[in-house]
Amino acid sequence: MDVFYGTMQVPIIGIGEVPIETIRRLEGMLNTEFSKIKIYAKGNVAFPEDTFNDFRDQYVADRLMDEFHKDGIQILLTEEDIYSKGKNYVFGESEYMGPALVSTHRLDPQFYGEEKDEGLLFRRLKKEALHEFGHCFGMDHCENPECVMQYSGSVKAVDEKSSMFCDECQVEISTKGLPLK
Ligand SMILES: [Zn+2]
Ligand SMILES: [Zn+2]
Repeated sequence: MDVFYGTMQVPIIGIGEVPIETIRRLEGMLNTEFSKIKIYAKGNVAFPEDTFNDFRDQYVADRLMDEFHKDGIQILLTEEDIYSKGKNYVFGESEYMGPALVSTHRLDPQFYGEEKDEGLLFRRLKKEALHEFGHCFGMDHCENPECVMQYSGSVKAVDEKSSMFCDECQVEISTKGLPLK
């Protein structure tokens, strides 16, 4: 397993038209977590060609991962709906030493016909971004129902877990050279 030393710079890139305030707010939330990683808002890029499935009206997460794979660890943020093979939708997707992709689409209470609640939306976004980011560094799913590395297949499950890594995952993260603040 690779261990990281020094400070690593990780960009947050909006795909499509993500408001810069949203990107910056995520940047602020993630920078409170790690002491050897500097996360910075880089701005937006357009969706690459052939990443949209007209029939499903969703973007294909696996295709997006392929497109951004070569740029290594980065956080990709979109407001559009995404799915991956075999699933109706995903909140995010990630790859070891590669991108962490997160969609706010189904984390937004308004998607479920509920009232606008930015606080709730961003609490959910922080959890899912940390979760996918954890996978980038080799963290696996955790059985602890409180832990941010627990798999969440629904917003209810996202709401039930905390935005923290459990004690065991905290130890594991530091062995990978990524001390938490
Ligand atoms: Zn996961
Ligand atoms: Zn854990």
